[in-house]
Amino acid sequence: LVELTQIRKSFGPVEVLKDVSLKVEKGEIVAIIGRSGSGKSTLLRCINGLEQVQAGRILVAGIDVTARNADLNVLRERAGMVFQSYNLFPHLDVERNVTLALKLVKKLDREAAGKIARDVVARVGLAEKLHAYPDELSGGQQQRVAIARSLAMQPALMLFDEITSALDPELVGEVLRVLEGVAKEGMTMMLVTHEMNFAKNVADRVIFMHEGRIHEDGPAREILQTPRTAELGSFLSAVL
Ligand code: ATP
Ligand code: MG
Repeated sequence: LVELTQIRKSFGPVEVLKDVSLKVEKGEIVAIIGRSGSGKSTLLRCINGLEQVQAGRILVAGIDVTARNADLNVLRERAGMVFQSYNLFPHLDVERNVTLALKLVKKLDREAAGKIARDVVARVGLAEKLHAYPDELSGGQQQRVAIARSLAMQPALMLFDEITSALDPELVGEVLRVLEGVAKEGMTMMLVTHEMNFAKNVADRVIFMHEGRIHEDGPAREILQTPRTAELGSFLSAVL
């Protein structure tokens, strides 16, 4: 579903991704870990076309992201992304936050969009908050709405960049449980996370980024329990 071939990404003189190659199959849950600045966010941003690479090829759900004429709107429908900051529209209630793109991008009518919204909002456990405004919700609830909004577009792939990092500790669990539910439904997911237990229990595979390269890549438990490199060993002992 995702195939990166020898991609390189620089910001000015600084090379942030160095010869990264990677394949993700349909249904895989891939956790991406690594130190601050190792290139995790940049990797996800390249996959959904928020950053352009200097070299290499990126294929996502049948779209050549690196082609000059790549249709980035279609790409972003197929590869939904959720960020640390949830970016909900404050003046719209939960339902309308979710239906907005369905109406504007997918051109659904109010009824069809509303039906999808009710469904995805229920899936993230917020059915009773359908008409609440973002400032009436906790951070964890807002993040769940952001996940619902992304799910509503029926993406082929979802990208999550540290979506629990800004939350108070007691709200992290509810968001991780929603992610786990989405994973169990068979969604293909790539998620940057510092939640090592979540990575170990929910991800099929863990990728450890180090200095712009994929330093280790393998089955989640194997990677996290028996790191092969000193770099991963010291990273894990620092975060655990
Ligand atoms: P963190 O865990 O802190 O989120 P990360 O692994 O996600 O880190 P990236 O955000 O991908 O790291 O950044 C990798 C490197 O690229 C860093 O050195 C960062 O300073 C640099 N970088 C990222 N975005 C830009 C940008 N828009 N302009 C210049 N440099 C950037
Ligand atoms: Mg980051």
